Amino acid sequence: MPSLSKRLAFFALAVTMTACSPPPAAPPAAGAKPATVQKPVAALPDTRVVMLGTGTPNADPTRSGPAVAVIAKGKVYLVDAGAGIVRRAAAAKEAGVKELEMPALNRVFITHLHSDHTVGMPDLMFSPWVLDRKDPLAVVGPPGVAAMVEHLSLAYAEDIDIRLHGLEPSNKTGYRAIAEEVQPGVVYRGDGMTVTAFPVPHGNWKHSYGYAFETDERRIVVSGDTIASDEVVAQCQGCDVLVHEVYSAEAFKKRPAEWQLYHSHFHTSTVELAGIAKRAKPKLLVLYHQLYWGSTDADLLREIREAGYEGEVVSAADLGVY
Ligand SMILES: [Zn+2]
Ligand SMILES: [Zn+2]
Repeated sequence: MPSLSKRLAFFALAVTMTACSPPPAAPPAAGAKPATVQKPVAALPDTRVVMLGTGTPNADPTRSGPAVAVIAKGKVYLVDAGAGIVRRAAAAKEAGVKELEMPALNRVFITHLHSDHTVGMPDLMFSPWVLDRKDPLAVVGPPGVAAMVEHLSLAYAEDIDIRLHGLEPSNKTGYRAIAEEVQPGVVYRGDGMTVTAFPVPHGNWKHSYGYAFETDERRIVVSGDTIASDEVVAQCQGCDVLVHEVYSAEAFKKRPAEWQLYHSHFHTSTVELAGIAKRAKPKLLVLYHQLYWGSTDADLLREIREAGYEGEVVSAADLGVY
């Protein structure tokens, strides 16, 4: 290990080099290539779903980590907190989803504790607080989520202390997060919204959930991470929107054997999803958490069609609204 002074000198050099380097080519704008033409936001019902992040652990610069916002009657119900969630919420607001104000990011339903679904948790706990959220963040999730929230609060103790007791004119409540570990069933009822957690089989996880959101207007089901599951079929039953994870069945064939073993026990292929969707009969199937492995949105849609699903289906990009 080099001495501290050498390491600091290297750090200073690295920063300088970065600062002097020509700027990299601009990355494509988020959601620049939606798989289908989006309806104008105003044409959608009041109860709708906004894709804040459609990504996976793969660091695709156009796809933030998994996070979905269900919006109804002026309220925001987040599902998962992948990397980039707060900035994607700000982008969606700029794009016309006016409900996605920072103070409104106050309720999240966590599907499971895989890091791609939760690394945005400290962002969601603390950034909207600094941006005037006064409500504590309500966190609903499987066993283990309370310990995660507690540890994150402890990890940011110095920041919380400075903002509460330094010169910053902060509110004294919005930094708190109140976690509730739930079992499958109705986990929230209020403001005309009912939220139901249902168990999904996701490899070795003991507790992994999908969530169904129901108002008097629409029913929206989010699969979370899962293999093909009868639970999803039972929860959807002709629902308005089924947001479901997927991987390319064709590209899967070229994956190494140990990864094939993993994916087949943790995730859903296009062919399997076609079977699920035929039985679940959503008015709209929305693909997210897509594992492409070199394939494209068009390939995923073609694979689903060839497997016999004839209903409406789109492969979502970040900031898609349905
Ligand atoms: Zn995942
Ligand atoms: Zn997962």
